[in-house]
Amino acid sequence: MPRADGGLLAELLQRGVSRRSFVKFCAAMTATLALPASYTPRIVAAVAAAPRVPVIWIRGQGCGGDGEALLRVVNPTISEFLLQFLSIDYLETLMVPSGSDASATLEAILAKHRDGYLAIVEGSVPTADRGAWWTVGGRPIREVIREVSAGAIGTIAVGSCAFDGGLSAAAGAASGAVGVGQVVQGRLVSLPGCPVNPWNLGATIIHFLTFKELPATDAGGRPLFAYGPLIHNECERRAHFEFGEFVQAWGDEGAQKGWCLYRMGCKGPQTFANCASVGFDAGTSWPIKAGAVCIGCTMPAFWDSMSPFSRRLPSPVPFFPDVTVDQVGQVAVAGIAGVAGLHAVGSYIRAKRQGAERRKRALAPPVPAAVPVPEAAPAAEPVAVPEPAAAPAPAEPPNEAEPAAEPPSVAEPAAQPAPAEPPAPAEPPVPRTAAPDIEPRPADGGER
Ligand code: SF4
Repeated sequence: MPRADGGLLAELLQRGVSRRSFVKFCAAMTATLALPASYTPRIVAAVAAAPRVPVIWIRGQGCGGDGEALLRVVNPTISEFLLQFLSIDYLETLMVPSGSDASATLEAILAKHRDGYLAIVEGSVPTADRGAWWTVGGRPIREVIREVSAGAIGTIAVGSCAFDGGLSAAAGAASGAVGVGQVVQGRLVSLPGCPVNPWNLGATIIHFLTFKELPATDAGGRPLFAYGPLIHNECERRAHFEFGEFVQAWGDEGAQKGWCLYRMGCKGPQTFANCASVGFDAGTSWPIKAGAVCIGCTMPAFWDSMSPFSRRLPSPVPFFPDVTVDQVGQVAVAGIAGVAGLHAVGSYIRAKRQGAERRKRALAPPVPAAVPVPEAAPAAEPVAVPEPAAAPAPAEPPNEAEPAAEPPSVAEPAAQPAPAEPPAPAEPPVPRTAAPDIEPRPADGGER
């Protein structure tokens, strides 16, 4: 990263900013980063020596409200710091060139800051129809974001659309919008919000300059210092929630007295952000302080998951509106871990018992040898029952002229075989069901 002579503090002093104001700014940033006050001198030293940070700000599919939020910071000291602190070389909302001139400007800036710059992206990235929903210089914005992010020392996705697609990815949207994190590799942090809080953007950059790394994030890539607190826990109307003092209708007595907006659909109990402690407009106000409900704009897919904004969401635990989904998940994980622990202990005890039983059996006296039992005499060979010499030839009726060719009697097949006449091999066997056609020969051998 290029380093200007004298650093940022020297440049600010030249512009008439007092050192006292500079230290107050750094102390406020320390508090925003949720760091102890003892870190302030370290941040003062890091920021004072830092050069202006070159920034390329790319606008994706969205309303442009995040850039507007940065430019319209009302406190002149803060806006001075942010705009002097950042050297925003490319931001379509501000710059004069347009069309092909804007594309040429971007190429020139990329070439100028080959040794490092900061990429900031607002808006979503359309993926449907080969990205035709949002192009810059005839190129899908996805290509531009990838090119700019590839040469950056870090990429910051600002606003809810850059976080996960935002409104462009809500139910019914057609552009296939996704967040910047789905098209960019490398160091990336996301600062969701509709719009982003510029104070969190400044704190993220100062963290990088002071500690040479981006701040710790949650699973969604959001810095924990800004998206760790639960709004409901830091809300100035929380006492009214505890006392059961709720606004029941817009403009009623409760609304005039600043009571809790939970029954008007406030999503503060489900939303993680530092809005209550940092505020907007230089900390002068924020939505709930101004009398509006929190709509959960820092949460994933909030256009679908938090709407309708004017109605309460069903609580994950009936009768316990204070309990969050995260807490339910923590209890579930703890329960599963407990069951797994009990199973492990039970398995250990069972293995111990089985080992003890094996050792007990091994140490037991040997069992006397068993008395040999004489082998039983082999069973007598069963008397083979002679098969009938041959099945009668039922197809051939008995020939009265040749009585010797008569088949043996069915009633006494073994006792009176017909030795003189072997069975006719040529005759196929005939099922016995055909036998009833043949009457047995009378015992006296007479003719029937
Ligand atoms: S429900 Fe909303 S207004 Fe009420 S205490 Fe929680 S965050 Fe504040």
